[in-house]
Amino acid sequence: MAALTQSQIDQLTKKLNENNQALLREVRNELENSGDQHRIDLLNNEPGDIGDESMANALADFNVARLDRQIQGMRDIEAAFQRIKDGVFGVCIECGDDVGFARLQAYPTAKRCIVCQEKREREYVQEGHPKM
Ligand SMILES: [Zn+2]
Repeated sequence: MAALTQSQIDQLTKKLNENNQALLREVRNELENSGDQHRIDLLNNEPGDIGDESMANALADFNVARLDRQIQGMRDIEAAFQRIKDGVFGVCIECGDDVGFARLQAYPTAKRCIVCQEKREREYVQEGHPKM
C-alpha cells in the first residue's frame, strides 16, 4: 500500500531536487576555490552529458575528501529518486512500515522509519560506524 499521496511525493521530490541543487552549489564552490577547471567543467555539463554515470559517482572518482559529505548526500538523493521510481518511497527498508510524511519532510532521503533508524544508530554508534 502506498503510504504517500501523489501530492506528498511531489512535495518531497521538489525538496530532494532543491537539496541536490544546494549540494551541487557547495561542490561547485569547493571546486572553484580549488581552481580545478576540469572538475568545474564537469559540473557545468548537463547531467546526461556524463553518460550513464551518476554525478555522485563522477565526483567520487575525483577522490576529493572535502566533498565526501556532499557526495554521500547526492547518492542518498539519487537513491530516493530511485525508490520513488520503484514505488517504494516512504516505505521503511527494514520493517516495511510507513516512514511517515512528517519524517520525510525533515529527512526526504530517510530510508527507515524512526524506530528502525534509532535501533540502527544504537547498534552502529556502538561499533564506531558513522550515522545513517
Ligand atoms: Zn522500520
